[in-house]
Amino acid sequence: MKHVLIVGAGGVGHVVAHKCAQVRETFGKITLASRTLSKCDAIAVEVKNRTDRDIATRQLDADDVPSTVALLNELRPDLVLNVALPYQDLPLMDACLEAGVDYLDTANYESPEEAKFEYSHQWAYQDRFREKGLSALLGSGFDPGVTGVFTAYALKHHFSEIHTLDIIDVNGGDHGHPFATNFNPEINIREVTAPCRHWENGEFVETEAMSTHQSFTCPEDVGTYEIYRMYHEELESLTKHIPTIRRAQFWMSFSSNYLKHLEVLQNVGMTGIEPVTYQGQDIVPLQFLKAVLPNPGDLGASTKGRTCIGNIMTGLDKNGKESALYLYNICDHETCFQEVGSQAISYTTGVPAMIGAKQMLSGNWRKPGVWNIEQHDPDAFMTDLMKYGLPWTLREMDLAEARRFSGK
Ligand code: NDP
Repeated sequence: MKHVLIVGAGGVGHVVAHKCAQVRETFGKITLASRTLSKCDAIAVEVKNRTDRDIATRQLDADDVPSTVALLNELRPDLVLNVALPYQDLPLMDACLEAGVDYLDTANYESPEEAKFEYSHQWAYQDRFREKGLSALLGSGFDPGVTGVFTAYALKHHFSEIHTLDIIDVNGGDHGHPFATNFNPEINIREVTAPCRHWENGEFVETEAMSTHQSFTCPEDVGTYEIYRMYHEELESLTKHIPTIRRAQFWMSFSSNYLKHLEVLQNVGMTGIEPVTYQGQDIVPLQFLKAVLPNPGDLGASTKGRTCIGNIMTGLDKNGKESALYLYNICDHETCFQEVGSQAISYTTGVPAMIGAKQMLSGNWRKPGVWNIEQHDPDAFMTDLMKYGLPWTLREMDLAEARRFSGK
């Protein structure tokens, strides 16, 4: 009977708690801890109603390493599953090292003071985790997460070399609000307003945020959307671990309405992360903006439509012949809401977090050190995606079309 400690009772934490509760044979005991205890308790009530399972709840400030170590020593969980914010990654890894507990997250570390995320901070823990015989899995959401597993799966079963990788994240859902973000607004807006970087012949090339875009027609009638090239963290780990990749890009769909609101908010300074003094108090504009925007965790009831996230990859197949693949998942917002009371963005993040935790707790992916998801064998994870709500489709693609899309 394994015990998982989930940290973070937000939109993703809500899904993770439900999905772990559904998989009784792996997650024998579940504790949900977060900064605000009442949010943990509310999720526990929903989990009980939907799955008839009791989960324990605790208050925790995960920035406070000694408090986290004390909680870990008291509970002795087998794994900390971090779905708080990227700011908490390092304090939670420190606490795991001190208490001797394995670690998993869905987003890489970012300092609150600088809107720039990179893996160097977490990769620096490699030796310490290995020496203590502990295992850490970084980025087990959808992107990063499933996109890395898709890449590893294509490399294992189809390609001998991958040359181009285009990750395309389309949210065809409509939540009915004039402006809202699909996950934590502060993290989301920091990400989309940052300069774009893509991988080109051995180095990252920087371009202005949102300056490159094209139209993309999703399969299975999800629709045609304008997708914008932006930086995303898995580009860093995938190009490091799969060095044959010559060009790697990440694309995300945005509606013109979203971009119009974002532009105005940027122009008036509401997306800034430098504190301003207001009536004698320091406030960070972006954090204030988060407080007035809809809570992404509450969007489930009103969101309709589907997401379509996947990878277009080109390279040499196992016979040395040039070929192209498209590997994707389509997820329906309303179906997610019926199952766990959440919209599809939280769902597509929470399900892979549970599956990654399952691989670690079963011993399948439990090797000492700090690992990105594409460094593990993808097969059992791919099977579990089919089983636990994120079925995928693999299609051969026209090579010329894939190259045109990638800009090659
Ligand atoms: P939310 O803002 O909804 O939830 C975050 C939760 O973390 C909140 O409950 C918050 O508490 C809690 N928290 C924040 N600081 C602390 C702290 N110091 N100690 C304890 N708890 C804390 O965010 P989401 O659920 O939308 O996102 C969760 C994570 O998932 C983020 O890191 C995000 O980047 C990542 N993500 C990854 C994706 C992927 O595909 N890989 C996609 C989407 C999200 P409180 O409620 O009290 O503020």
